[in-house]
Amino acid sequence: MKEIILCKYGEIALKGLNKSTFESMMIKTIRRRLASAGEFRITKSQSTLYVEPLGDAPDVDEFESRLSKIFGIVKLCRSGAVEKDIKAICEKAPEYLADVLEGARTFKVNARRSDKKFPLKSPEICAELGGAILEKFPHLEVDVHEPQVTVTVEVREDYAFIHSDPVDGAGGIPVGSSGHAMLLLSGGIDSPVAGYMMARRGAVVEAIHFEAPPYTSDRARMKVEKLAELMTAYCGDVKFFCVPFTEIQLKLKANCPEELFTILMRRLMMEIAQRICEKEDDIQALITGESLGQVASQTMYAMVCTDAACRMPVFRPCVGLDKAEIIEIARKIGTFETSILPYEDCCTVFTPKHPKTRPSLAEVEKAQAGFDFEPYIQKAVEGTTVRLIKHI
Ligand code: ATP
Ligand code: MG
Repeated sequence: MKEIILCKYGEIALKGLNKSTFESMMIKTIRRRLASAGEFRITKSQSTLYVEPLGDAPDVDEFESRLSKIFGIVKLCRSGAVEKDIKAICEKAPEYLADVLEGARTFKVNARRSDKKFPLKSPEICAELGGAILEKFPHLEVDVHEPQVTVTVEVREDYAFIHSDPVDGAGGIPVGSSGHAMLLLSGGIDSPVAGYMMARRGAVVEAIHFEAPPYTSDRARMKVEKLAELMTAYCGDVKFFCVPFTEIQLKLKANCPEELFTILMRRLMMEIAQRICEKEDDIQALITGESLGQVASQTMYAMVCTDAACRMPVFRPCVGLDKAEIIEIARKIGTFETSILPYEDCCTVFTPKHPKTRPSLAEVEKAQAGFDFEPYIQKAVEGTTVRLIKHI
């Protein structure tokens, strides 16, 4: 049977945004992300986008999987499209939904009719189809209050759509609807989650990674590139900047108090990230994967010292999450397994034994002023490579 995927974007998402801008952003994103899955057609009506895979044997699973990662879509309904004839509906619906109906004990039918020319009214459609389902699946009972399965028939312009309960979409608002930010992407668990969370709120996300060869290996960088690639399923294309950071780290180690190493390193990362953003077109903010109190460099004292080095706002969407909650999201978005691969990160290579958890801004600034980092910052910016990671 021909299948169509109904993508519902709901009213909440429309509140702050102009409806047509929102819709065209969604359609543009869907076109881009689905392009390599095969041919399809998109139509819209009543806060729903209809994605219709075309061709002889379209891979509808693949279309559905990609759509489930597009922000702004609140619910997805994979539906069978049937000719608008009650006989056809009663014959095809039990067949199409056989799997769910076999596994359930109770059900109800819900009918909607936007085509008012259809000869049966909604209650009549429910009665007819309910009867047909009971005939095919005699173990079922009708429960109109708390059914395990709701079979919905939507009689629309071209077809009658048949589906069971919708599944959750990616939620959020469309990427591109709220600005452009640069994610500091390490090889850890937290930063990919932070990028995902900001993209879910509409940000276009690029990524910057600091590496310290030969202390960090090619494999470590490839792991981070892989993380960026996995993020593209949600974020779309990601520009990946890779900064050579070894020299700065060696200068830091030789010239600054060891207990302030991490916080100074973080401030220098922020400085370099900002200079690269300033060279780009219109990147407005930085994103990190920091979570309050998770490690010594993530106390509020440390964050105050980091932010003092920033001209741009720094978003930390994981700030109030426990590690277990961050891991849950990482598993859901498919980055966890890659994040836990045991490759070294430039931060861990030089980590001091006893980092200061309550650095004061004055002592941090004094320590940083004790050495002229400027030429090394410029060199790192000039040596930064960039690669466009296309969405998968
Ligand atoms: P993550 O799991 O994201 O690595 P973490 O718990 O290991 O976080 P830190 O290593 O202290 O924490 O890093 C805090 C944040 O600083 C990271 O979430 C990331 O945004 C940024 N960061 C750390 N190392 C790097 C790096 N090598 N390149 C880019 N950003 C980094
Ligand atoms: Mg880390």
